[in-house]
Amino acid sequence: MDQWTVAMLGDSGVGKTTLVTQFILNSFLDTVPEVMMLQDDHRKQLIVDNRMCVVSVVHNADLDECAARRQEWLREGQGFVLVYSVSDRASFDRLSHWREIIKGDPAALLLVGNKCDKNYAREVTKAEGEARATELGCSFLETSAKTAQNVERLFTTMVRLLRDAEAGRVA
Ligand code: GDP
Repeated sequence: MDQWTVAMLGDSGVGKTTLVTQFILNSFLDTVPEVMMLQDDHRKQLIVDNRMCVVSVVHNADLDECAARRQEWLREGQGFVLVYSVSDRASFDRLSHWREIIKGDPAALLLVGNKCDKNYAREVTKAEGEARATELGCSFLETSAKTAQNVERLFTTMVRLLRDAEAGRVA
């Protein structure tokens, strides 16, 4: 069985914790349970392309308050998800900052524009997200942790990218 560690990075408030909650618990919780806030490592077993795997997600809303832990999970992380909110232009503009933190070329990188249910408050178009992903040389998805749109897909895409990267390394 393959096992992958995925790290979520992005500005505070873009929905990292809520995406992880939706993925792990299959529900949208406006108030994230304390246990989700305290732990920064969550696991889920899932089947991707008929193969079982375990995805372990690390995230921390207040990264700067815990620099040592951040270094640890930047080392542990195999796949990285850069998250911004489509209703928060500033979080989109700060993507370079988060990309620099990862350093080097990760095995798998995915750009995610979250809160796509908030079309009425949209500040970043889908085309802008796609263009940014092309610049970063990575795949792109818009998600909603509220409606669950593309949340499962985010993690299955990540598993496929990681498997492909591993197959490339072995070959
Ligand atoms: P984090 O700081 O990146 O971990 O962000 P949180 O997960 O704490 O989310 C910040 C706020 O945005 C919370 O009030 C969430 O309920 C809300 N939120 C997160 N994802 C979505 C989404 O996809 N749609 C909407 N409408 N709200 C969301």
